[in-house]
Amino acid sequence: MKKLKTLLRIVSMFVFSFMIYQTAEAQSRADRALINQAVRITKDNFSFAAQTPKGARVYAVSQPNARMLDAIDNGLTDLFAVAQKNNYQRQLNYSDYTIFIAKADRTTNSDKNYSPDIAVGSAQYAGSVYDQGGFVYAAGMVLAYNPCAFVFAEHTKDFQRVSEIVRYEGEHLILYHNDRQLYKKTADHSQGGGHPILK
Ligand SMILES: [Zn+2]
Repeated sequence: MKKLKTLLRIVSMFVFSFMIYQTAEAQSRADRALINQAVRITKDNFSFAAQTPKGARVYAVSQPNARMLDAIDNGLTDLFAVAQKNNYQRQLNYSDYTIFIAKADRTTNSDKNYSPDIAVGSAQYAGSVYDQGGFVYAAGMVLAYNPCAFVFAEHTKDFQRVSEIVRYEGEHLILYHNDRQLYKKTADHSQGGGHPILK
């Protein structure tokens, strides 16, 4: 009898750990596609995974500190508030967002102000005032719409700027899911127009 109980316990432990493994496996497949996309665009490696206190998921080039995670939550809180003011209802959960923190490709802008930015291929910005010769510096960039994901650069100070970037990149994602027409009109900044889009 005792042997049977032990056997059952071992079997149930095995089944349980297999279930966990399956869930982690399915989740990591979606995440791997996102991570590949982020690596392709930034040429960085995202070895650190974290979660904000409110539940947004984070992949980063180094362990993000509490101020960074709070700044992300604050940006999403502002975004959700303005989205609700506009009666948008989709993608208003912190857990709907996966955020990548990349290495900064510059830390000061042309005005010599602190401005950690990422360099991304210019594509639609070719020949515009933003073009640096094949690439542009961007504060942030949308990576995917389903699930919602974007990337911005590491900050060591001015976390208010992080909250703004989160809110601004989030605007594109919120609009994509709630107001496709306004999304299309505002997705490409090379035609002019910036953030905030939503008021
Ligand atoms: Zn934008």
